[in-house]
Amino acid sequence: MLRRTMAEFDVKAGLQHVLKRIDEVLLQRPKVRSAFYLSSLWLSVWKPLSFLQEIQAAKPLLVAVSKTKPAEAVIEAYEAGQRDFGENYVQELEEKSRHPDILAKCPDIRWHFIGHMQSNKINKVLSVKNLRMIQTVDSEKLATKLDAAWSKLQPAPTDPLEVLIQINTSGEDVKSGIEPKDAPGLYQFIRSNLKHLNLRGIMTIGAFGFDYSNGPNPDFVSLMKVHNSICEAHSLASDSVLVSMGMSNDFDKAIEMGSTVVRVGSSIFGHRAAKA
Ligand SMILES: *Cc1c(COP(=O)(O)O)cnc(C)c1O
Repeated sequence: MLRRTMAEFDVKAGLQHVLKRIDEVLLQRPKVRSAFYLSSLWLSVWKPLSFLQEIQAAKPLLVAVSKTKPAEAVIEAYEAGQRDFGENYVQELEEKSRHPDILAKCPDIRWHFIGHMQSNKINKVLSVKNLRMIQTVDSEKLATKLDAAWSKLQPAPTDPLEVLIQINTSGEDVKSGIEPKDAPGLYQFIRSNLKHLNLRGIMTIGAFGFDYSNGPNPDFVSLMKVHNSICEAHSLASDSVLVSMGMSNDFDKAIEMGSTVVRVGSSIFGHRAAKA
């Protein structure tokens, strides 16, 4: 029998609530989304229509952030249909990914590492079974080490490692991430030099507690600007470069602004106890 924590939370209801909200936000976008499919080639020929591309962006990927929550909570979300999960402490990611119940009940789980990556932990993270993506690459040095480590991994992975570049849009010292102005350069570097990495896009955490009565969140504006300049510099369709932004308190605002990956923890799993 599963042991329940005292502060029991209905994970399935939390997940369904978040998915419903995502659908609602998407519905508020103009209806042209599915009516037109515009390839990037077509767009480059007919620039005036390029705004439509933003509008028809696909449904965002929901990453359920399970940090500090027990394996049972992960299994509960998985059984309700969730597949992508995020963790930001290496040891916790390792433990959960090897948990016998998760291994038995969640064969198609996909883990995202969303925490700060220290060089001495790279091999630990890369050895995680069912690792899908590292969302926090923020320097050439780290990217180069990840590329080398992935190429040496045994048994050899069949696909390149999916990564996002973490950008420190709020400029806070405590946050990791590369400065927005340096992000296109890192993008270029990874794309042209590191063939064991599959660079999927960009990510930000941003300042906490933004007051939305003051208008759009400047961190989201900043990330979307980086997104634009990367897409333009590499002639990429905007939906081919992922944008990971938005958490429990603002994932809907983030989606309105163009987010394609949202990382949601407490709205799915309940509040976390403060770290001692
Ligand atoms: C904890 C965490 C989240 C989720 O935060 P919630 O407010 O619980 O949704 C998202 N992204 C990162 C990087 C986190 O560390």
